[in-house]
Amino acid sequence: KEASERRINSLRYSDKMGLDPEYSGRLLIKFKKALENDLLQVWFQPQINTDDGSIRGAEALLRWNDDEYGWVSPELIIPFVEQSSLIGALTDYVTRKACVFVEEYSQNFNKQIQIAINLSARNLDDERLAHRIGGILVEYNVPEHNVTLEVTETAFLGDSPQSKTTFAQLAALGVKVALDDFGTGYSSLSYLHELSFSEIKIDKSFLADFEHNERSLSLVKVAVNLGKELNMDVVAEGVETKLIEVKLKSIGCTICQGFYYGRPMSKEQFIEWAFAFDNNGSIIE
Ligand code: C2E
Ligand code: MG
Ligand code: MG
Ligand code: MG
Repeated sequence: KEASERRINSLRYSDKMGLDPEYSGRLLIKFKKALENDLLQVWFQPQINTDDGSIRGAEALLRWNDDEYGWVSPELIIPFVEQSSLIGALTDYVTRKACVFVEEYSQNFNKQIQIAINLSARNLDDERLAHRIGGILVEYNVPEHNVTLEVTETAFLGDSPQSKTTFAQLAALGVKVALDDFGTGYSSLSYLHELSFSEIKIDKSFLADFEHNERSLSLVKVAVNLGKELNMDVVAEGVETKLIEVKLKSIGCTICQGFYYGRPMSKEQFIEWAFAFDNNGSIIE
């Protein structure tokens, strides 16, 4: 069963890899080396408060440029990492890089930035996760409430007793937890019933055709109202045009992330971008 699940996952991400386990095995070995030798990168993408045009936060996103394979997308490698014992170490790694970013951002701008870090649902099965993340935040002096951990909707989210315990430990630690890719999982409402999230991120697939598709627009409206009802922030992901921003605003969604504002960038690029953005109060078109 595992093998067939793996095959399906892989096929979704890349035909070549899914069909060739030797290839994916080799890729994972190279990934492990890159992780151990600090050769992975973490980039940052801005989140904007469209009410006042301020920077609301940044999401940390993994980037890996392998000497042989070139840029390997996180969507391709993470499913393999999730099934290996490396996922805990990867999350720690990204958290550290994110903390260094937060530190530099606050030195440059004299204010804190809300930082979002992606977790794998598998991380929640790790009984030491909350303890380790807490330790890293203390080490770098990053306030817990400035950290949002994003968990993607997946079939196994919250299905083990340990994952519920970890969830509670993260809440006790004081970090926020977001439900990522909202609307794409098969049981969104039951997650919201069982676990308390402080934020939902509307998946970009709903925004792609939202200007022309009334149904997509209705679904986004429902998500925004659901967020209000349950006292959660609602973040729209994949905002690529001003028109989408305006439409979102008209239905009450004012936290946006997407290429319209900025692509994921290295921490140096982000800081430059933020200086320019602050000076303009908005993006230059
Ligand atoms: P995600 O967490 O939902 O991240 C958002 C993805 O949407 C990112 O892709 C981002 O580059 C992309 N995106 C943002 N704005 C736009 C837009 O306007 N248009 C379009 N077309 N795309 C946009 P990316 O960086 O390739 O990451 C893909 C996924 O890989 C992430 O989805 C997340 O689930 C996973 N991932 C990335 N980094 C990490 C990590 O450090 N740990 C874990 N566990 N997963 C990660
Ligand atoms: Mg995310
Ligand atoms: Mg995702
Ligand atoms: Mg997402």
